[in-house]
Amino acid sequence: MKRILQDLSLGEISALVAARGEKAFRARQIYEGLMQGKAISALPIPAPLRASLLENYEDEPVKIRDVFVSGDGTKKFLFELADGNLIEGVLMQYKYGNTQCVSTQVGCRMGCRFCASTLHGRLRDLTAGEILSQILAVNRASGGNLKERAVTNVVLMGSGEPFDNYENVVKFLKLLTAEGGIRISARNVSLSTCGLVPEMRRFSEEGIPVNLTVSLHAVTDEERRRIMPIANRYPIAAILEACAYYFEKTGRRYIFEYSLIEGENADEAHARVLAALLRGRPCHVNLIRLNAVKERDLRATGENEAKRFLKILEEEGISATLRRSMGSDIGGACGQLRASYLKANGGTDDEN
Ligand code: SAH
Repeated sequence: MKRILQDLSLGEISALVAARGEKAFRARQIYEGLMQGKAISALPIPAPLRASLLENYEDEPVKIRDVFVSGDGTKKFLFELADGNLIEGVLMQYKYGNTQCVSTQVGCRMGCRFCASTLHGRLRDLTAGEILSQILAVNRASGGNLKERAVTNVVLMGSGEPFDNYENVVKFLKLLTAEGGIRISARNVSLSTCGLVPEMRRFSEEGIPVNLTVSLHAVTDEERRRIMPIANRYPIAAILEACAYYFEKTGRRYIFEYSLIEGENADEAHARVLAALLRGRPCHVNLIRLNAVKERDLRATGENEAKRFLKILEEEGISATLRRSMGSDIGGACGQLRASYLKANGGTDDEN
């Protein structure tokens, strides 16, 4: 695989242009074209410069290979990377704008029992430019540009654990918000982690004001270990301390994801223990009914049980929302599309 030009900031592209003895304004032309989602071969620059870039860099590192549209307007994208790997993303329409869910790794090695992304392990990390290019491609394909964005919000909730690919994810966040780029405000970005405590602490000091979201999904370590192997490494208490540190450093409240799974974490007693754990903390809870993955033996709670869970949290003074599950008719949950695609095409992609 060649290098990825979208990994570079405007400053880095300027240095590259200068090193080649090109005029300085070419840097902005290149950068702007890339941020508009153009391939190198479509950049409005002289042919010799284009050709020399193409010798070293991938023409289009993230190609939209397929699009599936759900009855609720959610679009699911299958992307192809330059090395042939497939990743997926979702664009969800809300009243306030369009939220794109991006992947940060090809697969995932966290092993959560309910999640399709981790079924085949992790193949590799995505570079910053590959994460960014998912957004540039979807923005362009949806008729957006740098002024009128078709993508207004971003969630790092596709395949992969963002903090297992820390450097590239932080670089991506800087590119996403940079001057002259697509400039999606950090406040419109949510980063979701399964709770890698050292990275949560490190991220608290980066000065990037995104919404930090933690996948909790359980109220005791014992129950969490049943569904999330990472719970063997970090106890809930350490996660809550890291969240408190995040608040101390950034002044920003944080969010917990809690997917309701029948027989695992969704009884009334769980709701009360969750409320006790979180009482007085500057946080919000996003409840969602499990989006059942056919390769897994877990089932969603009923709609009524989910509503009751929400009501208990509210009665106990915890800020919480029960979210709609979107795009479930098109394999909306993490990794479902890629998994079914690999299966249909006889592909295997286990880490080796
Ligand atoms: N690795 C990160 C981000 C990716 S997943 C993390 O763990 O947070 C984004 C969210 O979707 C996480 O809260 C994850 O636990 C949840 N999730 C994964 N599969 C799911 C499923 N089948 N149903 C409901 N939520 C799911």
